[in-house]
Amino acid sequence: MGATLGAGVLGIAITDSSEATAVWWPAGGVALLTLLLLPRRWWPALIAALTAAYVLANVLCGRPFDAAVLLGLSDIAETVLVATAIDRGIGRQMRTVADLGRLLIISLGGAFIAALGVAATSDALLGGDFGSTLLATTSSHWTSMVVAAPLALIPRQRISAPVPLVALQLVLLLTVTALSFGPDQDLTLAWAPIPFLIWAGLSFGYRVVAVELVVMSVLVTAMTLADWGPFAHHGGGTSQVVQLYLISLALSSLPLSLVVHGQTEATRFARIEKQRTEAVIDSSSTPILVTDSAGTVVSVNPATTHLTGFTAEDFRGRPFWELLLPEHRWPAVRRQLAERGALPEHGESLILTASGGERIVTFSNGVLHDPVDDTLHYVLTANDVTSERATSHLLQHLLRSATTVAIVGTDRGGAITLVNAGAEAMLRIDGDEAIRRPFVEFLDPDEIADRAAASGSVPGFASLVEAVDADGAPQTRDWTWVPPDGMPIQVSMTTSLIADAAGRPIGYLFVARDVTENRRNQEILKRALERESTAVDHLRALDSAKDDFVSTVSHELRTPLTSIVGSTELLTDGLAGQLTPQQRQMILVIDRNAERLLALANDLLLLAAQGSGTVAAQLVPLDLRSVVVSSHATVMPLLAQRRLDLRQQMPHEPVTVKGDAHYLERAVTNLLTNAIKFTPDGGSIEIRVGTTEDGTGCTLAVADTGIGIPADELENVFIRFFRSSNVQPDAIQGTGLGLAIVRSIVESHHGGIDVQSEPGTGSTFTITLPTA
Ligand code: ADP
Repeated sequence: MGATLGAGVLGIAITDSSEATAVWWPAGGVALLTLLLLPRRWWPALIAALTAAYVLANVLCGRPFDAAVLLGLSDIAETVLVATAIDRGIGRQMRTVADLGRLLIISLGGAFIAALGVAATSDALLGGDFGSTLLATTSSHWTSMVVAAPLALIPRQRISAPVPLVALQLVLLLTVTALSFGPDQDLTLAWAPIPFLIWAGLSFGYRVVAVELVVMSVLVTAMTLADWGPFAHHGGGTSQVVQLYLISLALSSLPLSLVVHGQTEATRFARIEKQRTEAVIDSSSTPILVTDSAGTVVSVNPATTHLTGFTAEDFRGRPFWELLLPEHRWPAVRRQLAERGALPEHGESLILTASGGERIVTFSNGVLHDPVDDTLHYVLTANDVTSERATSHLLQHLLRSATTVAIVGTDRGGAITLVNAGAEAMLRIDGDEAIRRPFVEFLDPDEIADRAAASGSVPGFASLVEAVDADGAPQTRDWTWVPPDGMPIQVSMTTSLIADAAGRPIGYLFVARDVTENRRNQEILKRALERESTAVDHLRALDSAKDDFVSTVSHELRTPLTSIVGSTELLTDGLAGQLTPQQRQMILVIDRNAERLLALANDLLLLAAQGSGTVAAQLVPLDLRSVVVSSHATVMPLLAQRRLDLRQQMPHEPVTVKGDAHYLERAVTNLLTNAIKFTPDGGSIEIRVGTTEDGTGCTLAVADTGIGIPADELENVFIRFFRSSNVQPDAIQGTGLGLAIVRSIVESHHGGIDVQSEPGTGSTFTITLPTA
């Protein structure tokens, strides 16, 4: 406000007293600067203050109050109009020459409006001439604003200029101006400062020019008012000449600085853009190669060198095909390049690498046409698809070669998207025919309906995949496939979900194996097993009937046999009179055979009882050594006539097992009897009692040096009535029941029996019983 007031007073003060109103009006420029530089929301207060300053300046300079108010209102109207128009039409920065054009028009319009008010006031109240006041006011206001406004519209981007150079230019400008407008200077050198301002416009930019314009305006005005310089002697028109001079200074220097500014900006922008493009290309994982119209490489990005193994230097300046393509393809590429733009836009190609390898790439080719010099550039981008191709070939091969396994792919809705050779064979259809058909068409509808009913779902494709949908894991189940023309087949089908890379389900895969034959065989086997088990039941019943029969017969035989044996004893004892030696001999034969029959009957009875489980052993803790001692005593009579060495090898401490002494003695006696029977005179027999290696069981072994048992018969010796082939029935008597009884007894004691034997060397029978 103070500056506006000061400028107003100054403007009026320097005006020739012959003029009715001010012919210099710096106050207009100062007020405009104030509005443009300060925020819009302050404007209402600023406008009021500026109006006051205008009015006050006029009053202070002796104008009547009414005229002062009218002049002030004209001035403020202009200031507000111009400031608003600049704010709307140019903004807060001057950027282009067009902006400068707008400023000239806006400020001329504003100046003219103010001049109308001022001229009317001057005409009515101050005795001035309307026409000349209108002209003088328009030019003074216009100049004031054109010189001042650029200071408020300085663009943000500044051109960096070396300060000493700017200082030099300013000194030269001021010196030349001082000389041109100096005292007594009437040579028309007014143009002389212009080249220096142009220099500033070209080299130092808008900011310096805007400031220098203001400085020039003050200087030229002051010197001319002092009656110096080339414009001093133009009488009444001096002010207008100076003002037009100042406007022409602005018009010659400001546009230049704006153009230079725009160019600098454009260059900077282009540089940034280039850097950005280079950064994008360099960081791209896609190989990119740029060539000129002859195919000579201009640039390659790191992805290209990475893919091919060639360095950027290898590429630069060479036709791209020389490095990347096999020699037989060079002529074709050259031909395509010769017909401008005939390079294919995209395709797939094999390229060579530095290490002599090959890659498969898909490429696309962009053509850049520079209309200025009519040249072409090719931008080749490539994508390495070597491994994808290998994988897809492998997959194709896999699908083709899987002929015994049917593979069917569907989309989520159940339409077939893929069938392999196996599926074609099983469904007896052509692959192309099956594609897009609903997969359920090839399944037994009744089976689907049954299973849907069982799981409570809607019959259809959904019932095939609901289990897989539910928990995501593949599911295998038997299904019936119905080929369009053929017998239904039974398949074991695994259903699985196919997901894309992001894990979203995109379809299903069905892998099936024909199990019709398997299922038929399984059925036959099942029936055979059932029949067998019925047969076994019959046999078991038969066996038990036989056991019953044997035990009944044995039992019935025992009484008469006992009676026979008793009677023969009475006879040998001579109770029925003295026997002749011949009679005694016969009685002994009867007695021996009756004893054998009795033993046989007893053995049969025992086995039958054990088999039917009717006689259970009474298991109590007992010392195995005492069993051996008793059995040894029992067989002593058999040794009387024989030359055999029978030894015992037993620990000093008791060997306790849980057992039935009567049965165990019977078992050991049987083993000893066999050893005595099957060992020729001169041999030896050893009874060994001990514990198993792991300490959980006790062992009792009977080893002899007898005739042994042929290896292929060893496993049969425990079977009832079995006698080995090397036993001559006549020579060594026996029934083949002894070992069967031993095994039966041992098993009823939760133990086991084992035999090791070698014909001619001897046999060892080992009983193992759990330790008590
Ligand atoms: P038996 O002794 O009444 O023939 P076993 O059931 O006791 O019936 O024995 C079955 C068969 O095992 C015998 O006939 C004999 O061939 C064979 N055998 C059993 N013990 C011995 C042994 N210590 N040495 C050789 N062969 C034996």
